[in-house]
Amino acid sequence: MIRRIHIALRRLQASATVINFLAAAFLVCCANGPFWTAFINKIGGLATANHLAFVLMTGLSLCLVFNILFSFFSFSAVHKPFLVVVFCTAAVASYFMGSYGIVIDQKMITNLLETDVREASEQLTWPLFRHFLLLGVLPSTLLLVTRVTYRPWRSELLVRRGVMMGSAVLLVAIVMADFKEFVLFGRKNIELRMYINPTYPIYSLSKTVKRNWQGTHGEALKVVAADAKRPANTPRTAVVLVVGEAARAEQFSLNGYARATNPQLESRDVFSFTQVQSIGTDTAESLPGMFSHLGRAHYSRAEASRYENLLDILQRTGVQVVWRDNSSGSKGVADRIRFEDLADEKDSALCSSGECYDEILLRDLGEMLSSNAGEMLIVLHQKGSHGPSYYKRSPKNFKQFLPECSQDDVQECDQQSIINAYDNTIVYTDYVLGKVIDLLKAQSYATAMLYTSDHGQSLGENNIYLHGLPYAIAPRQQKHVPMIFWASSSYLREKNIDQDLLRKHRIDRLNHDYLFHSLLGLFSVTTDAYRPELDLFQSARRQ
Ligand SMILES: [Zn+2]
Repeated sequence: MIRRIHIALRRLQASATVINFLAAAFLVCCANGPFWTAFINKIGGLATANHLAFVLMTGLSLCLVFNILFSFFSFSAVHKPFLVVVFCTAAVASYFMGSYGIVIDQKMITNLLETDVREASEQLTWPLFRHFLLLGVLPSTLLLVTRVTYRPWRSELLVRRGVMMGSAVLLVAIVMADFKEFVLFGRKNIELRMYINPTYPIYSLSKTVKRNWQGTHGEALKVVAADAKRPANTPRTAVVLVVGEAARAEQFSLNGYARATNPQLESRDVFSFTQVQSIGTDTAESLPGMFSHLGRAHYSRAEASRYENLLDILQRTGVQVVWRDNSSGSKGVADRIRFEDLADEKDSALCSSGECYDEILLRDLGEMLSSNAGEMLIVLHQKGSHGPSYYKRSPKNFKQFLPECSQDDVQECDQQSIINAYDNTIVYTDYVLGKVIDLLKAQSYATAMLYTSDHGQSLGENNIYLHGLPYAIAPRQQKHVPMIFWASSSYLREKNIDQDLLRKHRIDRLNHDYLFHSLLGLFSVTTDAYRPELDLFQSARRQ
């Protein structure tokens, strides 16, 4: 039997033209599940013959486009390696797109490039391996054992040109046959192109590489709020800004969630702003945005990297600024300030297998606060609810909701157990925030805490998991984030904030744009860059 297969494989032979058509058809049929799901959803199902015909025509058009692209690389030296890379890329991309309902755009690739080994290893699961074998390794092996025939290069070139022109003519004919449908539908649903695999992932990768290559190399950082000043003799104060990870607002009992996920915060006189939208849907985009003066309307990560951020400004005006990190870094935000990486600490109680629970962020925090003589801002960057391995984020005695999904490939778990594991991370975050407040309360001077998350998270609603969908199509769970404030009574007095007035604004529609201006306000910084209408506390200040 094996011998027969061996002989059959040895006899495999095909021309470059046939190989390209087969490869294109294979990708359209087998590696584009997420595209077809989104597409069929958009046209409203396959109920009518018209819909079915439209799907078939779209599939054929995609085959033709792929075929044209492959034709550029159909020369003996590069053809096979090129197609192997295409198959493998398509296999990995289709796995993540199908499993988590994401698209592989520039943001996602930037995240991937900036993720650390620990985070990446959570993604290496058996289902991914299985998918990769089936859609990547199998077609690649078949291709490698096939003898591909090429003509002498002059006539091969002619054939290639003929095939490309023939494909292009056929493509135009298909589109023209139902021009209105194709063009109107395509225009209205332009985001569908992001699901086409592997062209969109490869396009995004090349854009990301190009952008990083150009970078901001040699360009001097632009000063923001050059006129920023703080009054002389400001009283001693400290603010701890906790930057959460992937915590979504609707899972907080403070915001009305039915499960008691915030017992600690509920017992500590905090203000929860219930309607806050994040600036991005993933860490690499959100973090720089939260500290940028640009605001969502004008923000892009590349643009923000040309400017100083909030922390630079505060430091320049004499505020002592520290960033403590238990995640994958500050994404450039803390490049010019004191940075403490606690994610790799060796603390037998809090750390194991190369990662630490968020309580590590509290280590020596009390001492740090009591040694502060002026005004201080400490940023605590949490591991929070980082997915997909939620179960790793909460210690045993915080696992209140069971059973919890305790595997890395969360999409294989039932939804309730995923929610349980996720809710346990919120319970643990609640505990950590409670501890931060207690440490602040213990100081003999005015202190405050502000907490928000970089973005939200999907937990399997409509089969979408994790986060990072393009902002325009991301579900609300990926954008609706918590924002919680606590201040000692001396702080409220010192900064002239009226609790009752503040309470009135709890349900206002807010977003991350407010962070920049609110923190300038809290540190009494005066500058033309400050916009009082984007200060959370401005309307609560007694005139
Ligand atoms: Zn994040």
